[in-house]
Amino acid sequence: MFERKHKPLSVPRASVAPFLPSNDAPSDPELPFRLTAQDVIDLNGRFAKTDTAEILTWAWERFGTRAAVGTAFQGAGLVMLHQAKIHGLPFPVFTLDTGLLFPETLQLKKRLEDFFGYEIKSLHPDLTIAEQEEAHGPNLWEREPDLCCTMRKVLPLRDRLSKLDCWITGLRREQSESRADVGIVEIYKADENNEREIVKLNPMALWTRDTVWAYIREHKIPYNPLHDVGYRSIGCMTCTRKTTAGEHERAGRWTGFKKIECGIHTFMSRKNDFQI
Ligand code: SF4
Repeated sequence: MFERKHKPLSVPRASVAPFLPSNDAPSDPELPFRLTAQDVIDLNGRFAKTDTAEILTWAWERFGTRAAVGTAFQGAGLVMLHQAKIHGLPFPVFTLDTGLLFPETLQLKKRLEDFFGYEIKSLHPDLTIAEQEEAHGPNLWEREPDLCCTMRKVLPLRDRLSKLDCWITGLRREQSESRADVGIVEIYKADENNEREIVKLNPMALWTRDTVWAYIREHKIPYNPLHDVGYRSIGCMTCTRKTTAGEHERAGRWTGFKKIECGIHTFMSRKNDFQI
């Protein structure tokens, strides 16, 4: 039997919802700071007219290291890391390493650590691929990708978020229809049991693919070479394909399934649905 690092999995086999929340208390004894609904409206209005650096600076001044950047090293995440670095905002940075990432992605992580000069923390699932196969059969992603994503992405993320007040992402509205209404500031229920909330900050929400890649090239930021050969959104190698002109950026993920999100952006309940 393998030992679990995360809380026991309690999700339906065919779906990530409903999701059992964490009971973990934040590691910092200070209570998380709450934003009101009006704060969210005001901040979204203000941040829609300002630059990414100001948004990140606000997060740093408000949350310090209880804010962290989560990135899969897509283009927008790289821009954010660069903006944080040049403006002296030392957020912790983490990535989800499912054990099924492309070699190019793993090499990119090391290149980015060298480029930015800090460690990017990898969050791992409880089960190795072999252990997952022993418990759930081979190639789970071909049969139950929701369950696979929950175990390999959502649970490690949930554990990390239980110790944060602000999760900074590289979501962009232009990426897909499911992301078209992303707010720059959003509030989620981090824990249904104790009403703990978490701020999800999406400073890149209004950036376009073109502006992201112009920035990356201008600043010579290392990026995934798979982008140069037809991959536009890059996840696990088992669930990612190249896309063609006319497809949206995330069309190359989970081909053959209706699935459009891995679950990390949908497992928590959004609390205030205020938009600019
Ligand atoms: S993207 Fe595919 S392989 Fe990766 S965790 Fe999700 S279902 Fe599993």
